[in-house]
Amino acid sequence: MMLNRQGRPTTPNQQAESDAAGTITGNRGLLMEEALIFEQGEAGRTGVDLPDAPKVQDRLGGLKRQGRIGLPGLSEPQVIRHFVRLSQKNYSIDAGLYPLGSCTMKHNPRLNEKVARLPGLGDIHPLQPVSTVQGALELIDQLAGWLKTLTGMPAVAMSPAAGAHGELCGLMAIRAALKARGDVRKRILAPESAHGTNPATAAMCGYTVDPIPATADGRVDLAALKAKLGPDVAAIMLTNPNTCGLFERDIKTVADLIHGVGGFFYCDGANFNAIVGKLRPGDLGIDAMHINLHKTFSTPHGGGGPGSGPVVLSDALKDFMPLPYVIHDGVGYSLVEQDGGRSFGRMKGFHGQMGMFIRALAFMLSHGGDGLKRVSEDSVLSANYVMASLKDIMSPSFEGPCMHEALFDDDFLKETGVTTLDFAKAMIDEGYHPMTVYFPLVVHGAMLIEPTESESKDSLDMFIATLRGLAEKAKRGNQATWFQGAPRLTPRRRLDETRAARSPVLRWKPGTNGAPVGQAAE
Ligand SMILES: *Cc1c(COP(=O)(O)O)cnc(C)c1O
Repeated sequence: MMLNRQGRPTTPNQQAESDAAGTITGNRGLLMEEALIFEQGEAGRTGVDLPDAPKVQDRLGGLKRQGRIGLPGLSEPQVIRHFVRLSQKNYSIDAGLYPLGSCTMKHNPRLNEKVARLPGLGDIHPLQPVSTVQGALELIDQLAGWLKTLTGMPAVAMSPAAGAHGELCGLMAIRAALKARGDVRKRILAPESAHGTNPATAAMCGYTVDPIPATADGRVDLAALKAKLGPDVAAIMLTNPNTCGLFERDIKTVADLIHGVGGFFYCDGANFNAIVGKLRPGDLGIDAMHINLHKTFSTPHGGGGPGSGPVVLSDALKDFMPLPYVIHDGVGYSLVEQDGGRSFGRMKGFHGQMGMFIRALAFMLSHGGDGLKRVSEDSVLSANYVMASLKDIMSPSFEGPCMHEALFDDDFLKETGVTTLDFAKAMIDEGYHPMTVYFPLVVHGAMLIEPTESESKDSLDMFIATLRGLAEKAKRGNQATWFQGAPRLTPRRRLDETRAARSPVLRWKPGTNGAPVGQAAE
């Protein structure tokens, strides 16, 4: 009989895992097999000895808890080990190259973290009197100034909490502007390659979404766009560079066309890393664009922290921006909480994601204007290096050069029996987070690689060599050994993704895995 870490008999599942690993514990070197925290320890065990609580008069009446709440009973070292091991199961930008296209997983400079933790910034509270947070408001104002300068736009709404939230902000401003001129419109145009948040946001704002097809060279089809324009079109939502990693060359024409029918131009600015410091979106005729601070201006994201999606607004939209916003009245900073009804209202509690603001401004100040220009140049260079180094063995979807991300399709896997998903999973065995797969939808079996400016040439060369090696193995007919069922070396193997999506088991029940009933949380 096998024992688990608690010295209890293993369940059949654990037994199977251990057998597969070929070890007594089920561990594989530093990859630990561990029971859930609720299955560990003993009821009543604690990490500290507390004196008996003094008797007080019970004022809870009938609300007093009747039974145990089922917290696990653990010693301090057990708790520490559990959470340290969990943290080590994460892949992160601090652990390795993270080529997730459209996500701009770049290094987060430690300077940003240090500044964000300064007591005067880290310890403030949003309900403090405004007179005591003048520095924080100045910081928000300064960051807003950088964003306006970098985009060439007259105003910026700072409160949206992520890119998708920024899209919502932009469309709500557009809806308010249309309403103010008594013009109700129903349709929003969005390219087929758009990020899923674009049509979702439009639908949330009550619009119908009309997709625009792409041309053979991966850009918006102008003829199709013209055919769809009309007086009922509220806006177009366009991403530039687009999600194929290509610059939309006709963007000024698109702006003129949409303005010609009285609509607005929303630009999804998630890919700003490719153009920051090189090009001002305001010069292209856009009316609103969100900037993912957590992408272009670092700040940890993807399980590592919240996002922040300020939205720059044109003259036509700036009066409708959300509350509150920061102003300087000549004496000091204050927050406008009400502005006589032009603003479309409030998007969230308080004033935005302060911790992200600090990190983003630290990133800007430490790079300077010239440094930010280098950021975009280096990110584009890295992506083109990856594309040029792989184009003979993988299949780029469009003729290069690309912007900050390289898009491949699954043409090079034809006849190999290996799918895009298999290829991505095999990368996990090699120690890489996979690239974005099956997005954008406009190419078959998409693989979208965004290396960012963070990677050294050595790091890119290793990554390229890995992908070349995998592509060769696929072509040599190694489907069964290297790809089918990959990843082979992780604590858990290939998931049944369909089953996981259709019938997810989201709730662990006590007693299902050897834990004493009643000890576990429900
Ligand atoms: C990341 C991204 C978004 C959404 O941003 P979130 O901050 O994740 O909400 C929208 N569009 C594109 C193109 C993106 O890459």
